[in-house]
Amino acid sequence: MNAEVLSIGTELLLGEVIDTNTSYLAAQLPLLGINLHRVILVGDNRERLSEALHQAWKRSDIIFTSGGLGPTEDDITREVIAEFLDEELNVSPELEQELRLFFARMGREMSSHNIKQATIIPSARAIPNPRGTAPGWWIEKEKKIIVAMPGPPWEMQNMWVKEVMPRLQQKIQGDFILSRTLKTFGLSEARVNEVVSPLFVSADPELGIYAKPDGIHLRIIARAAKREVAEKIIAQHEAHLREILAKYIWGFDNDTLEGIVGELLIEKGLTLATMESFTGGLLASTLTSVLGNSSSYKGGFVASSNEAKITLGVDTQLIRQYGSISTEGAEAMAMAVCQRLGADIGVGVTGVAGPDIIEGKSPGLVYIAICGDREKWTGDWNFPPPLQLNNIATVAALFALRQRLLSIN
Ligand code: ATP
Repeated sequence: MNAEVLSIGTELLLGEVIDTNTSYLAAQLPLLGINLHRVILVGDNRERLSEALHQAWKRSDIIFTSGGLGPTEDDITREVIAEFLDEELNVSPELEQELRLFFARMGREMSSHNIKQATIIPSARAIPNPRGTAPGWWIEKEKKIIVAMPGPPWEMQNMWVKEVMPRLQQKIQGDFILSRTLKTFGLSEARVNEVVSPLFVSADPELGIYAKPDGIHLRIIARAAKREVAEKIIAQHEAHLREILAKYIWGFDNDTLEGIVGELLIEKGLTLATMESFTGGLLASTLTSVLGNSSSYKGGFVASSNEAKITLGVDTQLIRQYGSISTEGAEAMAMAVCQRLGADIGVGVTGVAGPDIIEGKSPGLVYIAICGDREKWTGDWNFPPPLQLNNIATVAALFALRQRLLSIN
């Protein structure tokens, strides 16, 4: 089955909002065995949306639209679909009732403009949207399917998981398609590709290699008539990948590095503190996103200047001798914060964000130290400057922390 996504919204065309709905759908469709062969980004413009719909209808079996289901003048998806299918839009009393209940539950008055969101055409079935005011539409006509979904990702994804995907699964009823994602850090995309491609010589199972903010992800997709067979294919290939990439793999599917680090700290009953310079608090912010309410994370300091580092306990003499951007500097930061906050483990992150060379060190050079009572570990990385350095250094610190935590009994 060939599919096309029409992503609708002028704000997307202007670059004010990044089109995450399309990437979400693009990742979901292969799991249903649906081949996404085109994506169209179109503004809130009747003529152009209508033209895009005409083209998509000619080329594709399924058309997914996202956006333009709101109550305002520029929300035109319903009108354009109705006109294209030559059907009349009418207010559905059931949908109106649901809409009124939605507003009543929020204690808000429903604007007369919202009534538009209760309109529907005869060939469409409404798709419930408990997270918003715009129901989706499911249309089957002339052996084609149109699925219209709301733009806000939180609404669209919920509708996809709860309503659209199960309906499509029933419709397609073909092979079982399973996927498994392995998340790695420390190797480039090209290197991962080189190492794993001999294992994936045929198209089944399919292997996708993706560069993500937290490293390189590998996604295995297996298709089979029976679920057990698809599971076996995935397990076999996963085992091979684990063998080859063992020390680089840090997680699977929905795992996050901060989530894993958080679990390990709690499991081992250890506390953590951080001192970072050019990452500007990103490490602390990422850790608090999972450990905010836990006693495992004692806290962190952003010590951008040498003065701040010295005030927080880093030795002046050490900075004079080695510079603050050094193995010794990172270690001193980790130990100082450990002592200050009485934590079991301290992490120090220092480096050169660029564009200038500092202390004779080039942009992209990052030193990370992890210190505890019993051990001290320091690593340095040299990341190519176009990378988002504060993000990659944060990921590197979490990755190193995970490894250290795993080695503690
Ligand atoms: P609403 O009832 O909120 O108006 P809608 O279906 O009309 O819903 P839009 O008005 O097109 O949706 O978009 C609402 C908001 O949802 C946008 O301002 C944007 O923040 C977000 N959004 C829309 N489309 C996308 C997309 N493809 N990717 C990410 N965010 C999106």
